[in-house]
Amino acid sequence: MRNIADLVGRIIESSHPDPDKRRRARILNIILLSSFVISILAFLFALGAEIAEQEPQEEALLIYVPSSILAACIVLIYFVNRRSPSLASAAFLVILVALLSVSDEREQIAGGRSQLFLALPVIMAASVLPAWCTFLFAGLVSFVISLIGFSIGMQFTPFATFAFFVIALVSYLGASQLEQALARLRHINEELDQRVADRTHELVDANAQLANANERLRELDKLKSRFLSMVSHELRTPLSAIQGFAEILLAEIYGPVTPGQRNALDRITNNAIRLLNLVSDLLDRARIEAGQLEIHPHPFSPFELVQDVYSTLGVIAESKGLMLVAEVDPDLPSQILGDEARLRQVLVNLVNNALKFTQAGAVTIKLARYDGAIDGNPVITPHWSMAVTDTGPGIAPEHQEAIFRPFRRVDDSSTRREIGAGLGLSIVKDLVELMNGNITLISEVGRGSTFTIILPLLSSTEGNHG
Ligand code: ADP
Repeated sequence: MRNIADLVGRIIESSHPDPDKRRRARILNIILLSSFVISILAFLFALGAEIAEQEPQEEALLIYVPSSILAACIVLIYFVNRRSPSLASAAFLVILVALLSVSDEREQIAGGRSQLFLALPVIMAASVLPAWCTFLFAGLVSFVISLIGFSIGMQFTPFATFAFFVIALVSYLGASQLEQALARLRHINEELDQRVADRTHELVDANAQLANANERLRELDKLKSRFLSMVSHELRTPLSAIQGFAEILLAEIYGPVTPGQRNALDRITNNAIRLLNLVSDLLDRARIEAGQLEIHPHPFSPFELVQDVYSTLGVIAESKGLMLVAEVDPDLPSQILGDEARLRQVLVNLVNNALKFTQAGAVTIKLARYDGAIDGNPVITPHWSMAVTDTGPGIAPEHQEAIFRPFRRVDDSSTRREIGAGLGLSIVKDLVELMNGNITLISEVGRGSTFTIILPLLSSTEGNHG
């Protein structure tokens, strides 16, 4: 079925470059195809009737001959139509007028029932030729009728001519309206095509600009990371020297130090340490952004990790009158696989923050096995967690995401007075993600916060990737 439709489509199609002529050629092809089918059917009908001997031979000839001539003419016109649609249409209509004028008795053609059929070429002319040609055919048909009437001695009556011209006028108006509408549609189509082409062009341009800007941004980003790491290195060396010499002076290696001098040297040491910490945070950020920070897992003891952090930061807790509590779940393996130095950095950061922002109460460090959920999905493989809970000011929900971005701090009275660059948590988050882990925060303003780090539990027997 589809093949037949394709074949018919191909027969009807025209490839004329002029869109109007192409449309008319298609209409003529449709008419030709239908006429061809009718003439073949008529031929077969005559043949069938003759075989059944229903029709005497002479009567059948009356169908054979015209239908064969018609079929041959149709094929000829079809091929002319491929080259010159106007010539083919004109020829077809003239043949049609000729056939119709001999299709009945002359009296009927000149003034009877068959006059009506002669309106057919007039109407068709408006569709297969430029609309004004309909008047030409109204004239031709009127002339033929008058001629036939004259041949049988009939009087000329203007009524038929008038009727054909009215039909021509109506066909002309209809066809020219259609042609105008089609022309407008073509114009709109062309405009739309132009607009699409323009927009596509603009889009291609914008894309190229975006790619350029992206490239420049990448270069700037690399430059920034290189600059940051270079500056940090250059700062670290003199700062370490300042801290070292201050400590030598404090140790009274170069002679006794007065209480005033000791106070000043303490301040120099503290500030040098703060600057060194800041520089090392900047260096870590630069390394993370340049994709150069690597994790080196080794077997380590979680218990010793907590002990180490406790002994480093216990002094601060004591000086602020805070309780520092550390708990290690006995179910945790004694040795687990991880980058101990980076894990210590993460824990120190969280405990440091908790101690920094909490004014009264306690800070608790808790290491345990974890079998809850991550991002709403239950964990399947073994995990462990490091949680740091404080009784500090808490973090409002609207800040809980932002504090994990670089240089972002909560700007309220309880935390603003504390020193910090806003880098710590962003580094913690990136480090944890590099270890395939996850960080969550549960916090309530006025009650405190719990930062929990969840990591895959790799026991030391699973291999050493260091
Ligand atoms: P810094 O501590 O240097 O400001 P961080 O990235 O470590 O930078 O922390 C970002 C911000 O998150 C802090 O400035 C503070 O406002 C908030 N914050 C972090 N930890 C806590 C905490 N335990 N309690 C309350 N606020 C906190």
